[in-house]
Amino acid sequence: MQAWKCRKCGRSFRHARQSHSCRPPVPLETHFAKAGPAVRQTFDTLLAKLAPRSAYQIDSAASGISLRAGGVFAAFKPRKAWLDGELLLDGPQRRSVFQKVWQLSARSWVHGFRLRGPEDVTPELVRLLREALSRAVNRNRPPDVRESK
Ligand SMILES: [Zn+2]
Repeated sequence: MQAWKCRKCGRSFRHARQSHSCRPPVPLETHFAKAGPAVRQTFDTLLAKLAPRSAYQIDSAASGISLRAGGVFAAFKPRKAWLDGELLLDGPQRRSVFQKVWQLSARSWVHGFRLRGPEDVTPELVRLLREALSRAVNRNRPPDVRESK
């Protein structure tokens, strides 16, 4: 897989000079240092159900954890007693799992959710996160690849 590595922050991206916050990565554990064990279990459970680990990258920056497949498709902020998450979809999905839904751009909607334990990782949430992942993959595919199907 061809990837571009930013010399300043050391993170890898699919596209050369891809815009990013360009801050040095922080260890993933840093985000969970003040969180209870259930918070980390929730995060690990969600990722284990999402897709093979090779299908996406985990970006751990000072501002939070983001998942990318070309572009960012989900972000997480571990708190003391819960995991706050966001995922990106083309349009608004009004579902009880989402506390907040807001529009970022024409075809980009942020869906915010809060998980208190691994039992909150429902099949519906996993399905929507997978949708966000495949959306990111498709959006970041070069046009010639997309058209030659
Ligand atoms: Zn950088």
